[in-house]
Amino acid sequence: MPTPARQQYLDLKAQHPDAVLWFRMGDFYELFDDDAIVVSRELHLTLTSREFGHGERVPMAGVPHHASDAYLARLVRKGYRVAVAEQVSPPGHGLVERAVTRVVTAGTAIEPNLLPARANNYLAAVVRGPAGRGGSAPEAYGLAYVDVTTGEFAVTEVRGETAAATLEGELGRLGPAECLVPWDQAGALALPGPLTRYDAWRFEPEAARERLLRQLGVRSLEGFGCADLPLAIGAAGAVLAYLEETNPALLPLLGGLRTYQTDAYLVLDAHTRRNLELTRSARGGGAEGSLLAVLDATRTPMGGRLLRRFLGQPLLDLAAITARQDAIATLLERPPLRAELLGRLGAMGDLERWTSRALQGVAGARELLALRELLASVEPLRERLAGIGALALVRDGLDACADVADEIGRAVAAGEDGRLIRPGYDAARDALVDSIAETRRWLAELESAERARTGIRSLKVGYNQVFGYYLEVTHAHRDRVPDDYVRKQTLANAERYVTPRLKEAEAVILHAEERIAAADRALFAALLGKIGAQAPRLLRTADALAHLDVYLALAEVADRNGYTRPEVHAGDEIVIEGGRHPVVEAALGPEQFVANDCALGGDGPRIALLTGPNMAGKSTYLRQVALIVLLAQAGSFVPARRARVGLVDRIFTRIGAQDDLAAGASTFMVEMVETAAILRHATPRSLVVLDEIGRGTSTEDGLAIARAVVEHLHDAVGARALFATHYHELVDLETRLPALRNLHTAVREENGEVIFLHRVVPGAADRSYGLHVARLAGLPAPVLARAASLLEPSPPERVGEPTPPAPLPAREGGEGRGEDGACLPGRNGGERLDATAAPPFPRREGRDAEYCERRAGGVGYAPLLPAPADRPACIREAPPPAIGAPAAEPDGAAVAPAVAPAPPAADGAGPAVLRELLALDLCNLTPLEALNRLAALQRQARTEPPGW
Ligand code: ADP
Ligand code: MG
Repeated sequence: MPTPARQQYLDLKAQHPDAVLWFRMGDFYELFDDDAIVVSRELHLTLTSREFGHGERVPMAGVPHHASDAYLARLVRKGYRVAVAEQVSPPGHGLVERAVTRVVTAGTAIEPNLLPARANNYLAAVVRGPAGRGGSAPEAYGLAYVDVTTGEFAVTEVRGETAAATLEGELGRLGPAECLVPWDQAGALALPGPLTRYDAWRFEPEAARERLLRQLGVRSLEGFGCADLPLAIGAAGAVLAYLEETNPALLPLLGGLRTYQTDAYLVLDAHTRRNLELTRSARGGGAEGSLLAVLDATRTPMGGRLLRRFLGQPLLDLAAITARQDAIATLLERPPLRAELLGRLGAMGDLERWTSRALQGVAGARELLALRELLASVEPLRERLAGIGALALVRDGLDACADVADEIGRAVAAGEDGRLIRPGYDAARDALVDSIAETRRWLAELESAERARTGIRSLKVGYNQVFGYYLEVTHAHRDRVPDDYVRKQTLANAERYVTPRLKEAEAVILHAEERIAAADRALFAALLGKIGAQAPRLLRTADALAHLDVYLALAEVADRNGYTRPEVHAGDEIVIEGGRHPVVEAALGPEQFVANDCALGGDGPRIALLTGPNMAGKSTYLRQVALIVLLAQAGSFVPARRARVGLVDRIFTRIGAQDDLAAGASTFMVEMVETAAILRHATPRSLVVLDEIGRGTSTEDGLAIARAVVEHLHDAVGARALFATHYHELVDLETRLPALRNLHTAVREENGEVIFLHRVVPGAADRSYGLHVARLAGLPAPVLARAASLLEPSPPERVGEPTPPAPLPAREGGEGRGEDGACLPGRNGGERLDATAAPPFPRREGRDAEYCERRAGGVGYAPLLPAPADRPACIREAPPPAIGAPAAEPDGAAVAPAVAPAPPAADGAGPAVLRELLALDLCNLTPLEALNRLAALQRQARTEPPGW
């Protein structure tokens, strides 16, 4: 038979088998059995054991109550659920009653040290809709999320072919701490992040609707915009049920519900959010190095959270964008006002979370006093904003809630006498305090009175928890102790006594103190209730402060970094003059970043094909255009001298498999799946950014795919697109696709050194600069020199070198592929790049002629014919074999150099390294492949016999 306490534990544990049970025993939370073993390991607690009744010993570990929050936080962060069993009856004789008062999970935590201050902590729920008639209906999902620390509660439903991707994008935006999914769908819903499987019936629309109506206190969901969204309702119902089970005290905060549509905002899928490093850097995973880090000059936690939402959900509504811009412009123009407002906001705390903690009845006296102080500064702030049109909405939202501030001021003691409530707040409670005033006075005077009576100058009156009040006399004066002193305790050098009168006074005081403390607690709880009733006003004020904070931050950053107000318009032209990448610019320091222009859409080209050597700034340019568009639609100013942004409905970005280091496990398959999704879902209003697509496969295939993708974007999708590629072969597309223009990143050669100018200029890159990369990689000088000489066009130095292949005649019905002169430096000397003043897209007439001339003129190019419609344009003809190369070897084989046969040198005795070098088809290697090859050759060169 277990003891009653043990039985109580077992009963509670049986109710929460999936949670770790924190069992309150006096000043500790104790853990037993397996929980003790697991938690002692996770939190490095001492594992002991405890005997319950007849020799039954069980493992035990404990955490002190006063420090429990920190332990709880660590445990929940590790993914555990913690059921907290409190003592719910006053300690007395017999077994104390205990009950689980809340279950703390990652998504329901309210402990401040479990929460990121400047980010929301979302609990989400996702449910997938029924397959639909005939199983052919498109997918549909319901999504609901709450932040129980701020009261945000929102639902949406996504349908159609893009539903899964949209859902993933939303979850990417929210980054929920916990996501509920129905048990039976957990396998099918391959969602990122921490999932909690939850009863499937909780997601059923009918029951969920009832629960939602009850929660919102309404008869219909019509007014909330979700009456016809059964999946959204199901998800919301599950969230509410879960909160009710884990911690019902969290529910009162959820008084409002927002139904939104994902396509009411600029849609950013999960990859794009990651690729653009909006809130987290790809490398470190932290905020540092992200767009958020550059922009976040907010002063309050709620401003920090709102800024994230601005970046997470850029707008499509011109009026709303303009309103944000107006507010920022107003602040930008008034530096003194800005400085003053920044100062005022800097002193404010987290009104949003304090309000929610008051509403949940967990706020402490210190938080309420801080709340009061904050409210006191709201009215002066409101007055300061008077007459500033662009900030009228902010001003209207500010409510100093003088009644709340006043009530707190009258009620809450600042801790002077260790009490919670101030005198004068409640008459009954004051009477209790007064009732012992006389006794306290007597006690206060007791020491001096007794010293006088006994003549013992060192006599002291003291108090401790065990013995209560006492009179202490050192042994030296023991003889002078009066008869009415009763000895209570002997210390090393003193005796402690009580008197009947002292005992009497003690009883009066302790009894009254208990009642005062109880009265204070009750008054404090009632006060929290009163504040909670004003939560809507407080939260509106918090929202206004958050907006002001974000506008100030964006104005501050615009000022500091020289951002300008973009013209966002309903047309589809994107023109950026002097655009910069906000994050790279911030990292490089002032004046170091080379600004670049961009023009897409409108009457100009819709696709820019960007070529250029590694490290020349291609990826940076692509991202900077996407970020400027995103910032513009978020209402922010942008890092550009001037920008016109025609509204974009979606931004897609993809990075070629080998470049996508952050994803780690990314494969070519994934890359292709994502590219497919873009081609299917992009609209003419979208902005598509493709960086080195087609890299994760053989050169041949990669080139073919890249070409086909660009063509499809051009012919079928019509989106505005930026395409960076190392496939120089693609630049001929410009002659065939009227809406495509070539751009390249400029480099300058000085004394054999390549200098990256980071300038994006019209035209195609003419060289790959593989040797420069090789030099940077530390290939030995002799090898580099030899390689350079091999690349010299004529005359061939030695038999065994590849002679420059003859131009390939255009074949009948086929696309002739010339030898790619881009790989042969010195042939045309490279375009001398002085394109400082050149606009990125000069008018096409004239340029084409010049371009074709340059391409064809004397550098061995065959005329580039459009590919006939009946064969894919991407199929390339094999180049004529170079001397020494196996005759029928397709040049794509060069990407598998390990198996590429080394051509026999004519003298038959050349070093193997050189032979291999000769066989390398540099034109058909990506820079990375070239680098790898060269590194292998270098290793080999080091082991070659000396003297070659
Ligand atoms: P690519 O994609 O062509 O290999 P990146 O865009 O990755 O090149 O740029 C490589 C580095 O060059 C960046 O990390 C940055 O330090 C620098 N860089 C890129 N663009 C610029 C620019 N416009 N101004 C100054 N530095 C730049
Ligand atoms: Mg790149």
